[in-house]
Amino acid sequence: MDDRMCVLVTGGSGLVGRAIEHVVQEEGGKLEGEEWIFLSSKDADLVDVGQTRALFEKYRPTHVIHLAAKVGGLYLHMKSNLHFLRDNLKINDNVLQTAHDMGVTKVTMVSSIHNGPPHDSNFGYSHAKRMIDVQNRAYFKQYGRRYTAVIPTNVFGPYDNFNIENGHVLSALINKTYTAKKDGTALNVSGSGTPRRQFIYSLDLGRLIVWVLREYDEIDPIILSVAEEDEVSIKDAVEIIFDTTKSDGQMKKTASNAKLRRYLPNFTFTPLKEAIQMTCSWFVANYATARK
Ligand code: NDP
Repeated sequence: MDDRMCVLVTGGSGLVGRAIEHVVQEEGGKLEGEEWIFLSSKDADLVDVGQTRALFEKYRPTHVIHLAAKVGGLYLHMKSNLHFLRDNLKINDNVLQTAHDMGVTKVTMVSSIHNGPPHDSNFGYSHAKRMIDVQNRAYFKQYGRRYTAVIPTNVFGPYDNFNIENGHVLSALINKTYTAKKDGTALNVSGSGTPRRQFIYSLDLGRLIVWVLREYDEIDPIILSVAEEDEVSIKDAVEIIFDTTKSDGQMKKTASNAKLRRYLPNFTFTPLKEAIQMTCSWFVANYATARK
C-alpha cells in the first residue's frame, strides 16, 4: 500500500497555482513527508495524451490539483471558440483518465459558475468547464473515484494577467490606474461601474483549495466565494485601487457561499481593501515581469 502523498499541481505557474505554491511552501500548508510538484506547460503539453501519461509516470502522484486550462482574452476566444473547446476538453480528459488509470485517489479541478447558457463570446471554453462536473460524476458512478471541483468567483492577486484589454477586471484596472498615475493622464474606466462582483483573493482561494484536497469528500462541486453581502461594484473597486496606488460585462452572477460556511464557519477572508493593496504592491514591485 502506497502511503506517501505526492501532489501534482497542473497549471502551477498561473495565478491560482502560484497562490497554492505560496500557501504550501511559505505558510506551512505542506505537511511532513508530503511532496508537492508545481508544473507549467513547459513540463508537458496536457493537450497531448502521450505527454500527459509520461508526466504521470515520472511523478506517480497520489493526488492532483488540476488548474491548467487554455484561457485567452475576449478577442481570441471569439475568434477561436472551437480551439478553446477542443483543447480544454482534451486537457481535462487526459488528466482525469490518466489519473484514473494510475490510481490517483483524489483530483481537485477548477470549474466556473454557470447559471443559464454561457456568454456567446466564450462558449467553447465555458462548455468545456461545464463538462468537469459531468466527468467527475461519471468517474464516481462508474469507478467510485472521488474526483471533485471547486467553483471560484472572480479571482485576483499576484501573478494575475494585468493586461488592460484581456486581463481579469480587477487586475486590468490596477494596471490602468497605475499607468494613468505614472503618465499623469486621466483614468477612464469604461462602462457604468455598476456591475457587482464577488472577488476572491488568490491566496484565500489557495488555502481553500488545499482544504478541499484534504477534507472535502463530495463529488458535487463547492463554490469558493466571499459572502453575497461582500459583493462590490466595479466603481467601489476602482475607488479602492485609486486610493491605494493611487466594459460592463455580465451584470450579476451572485454566488452563495452557504455550503462553504457550513463546512468552514470560521474561515476568514482577507478584507478586500487589504487584498487589493497587496496586489497593487506586488504589481508595482514586479512591474517589469508581470503579465500585462
Ligand atoms: P492562468 O491563466 O493564470 O494559468 C493557466 C495555467 O495553465 C498556467 O500554469 C499555464 O502554463 C497552464 N497551461 C495552459 N495550457 C496548458 C497546456 N496545454 N498544458 C499544460 N499546462 C497548460 O489560470 P488561473 O490560475 O487564473 O486559473 C486556474 C484555473 O482556474 C483554470 O482552470 C481556470 O479556468 C479556472 N478559473 C479561474 C478563474 C479566475 O478568475 N482566474 C475563475 C474560474 C475558474 P504556462 O504558464 O506555462 O502557460
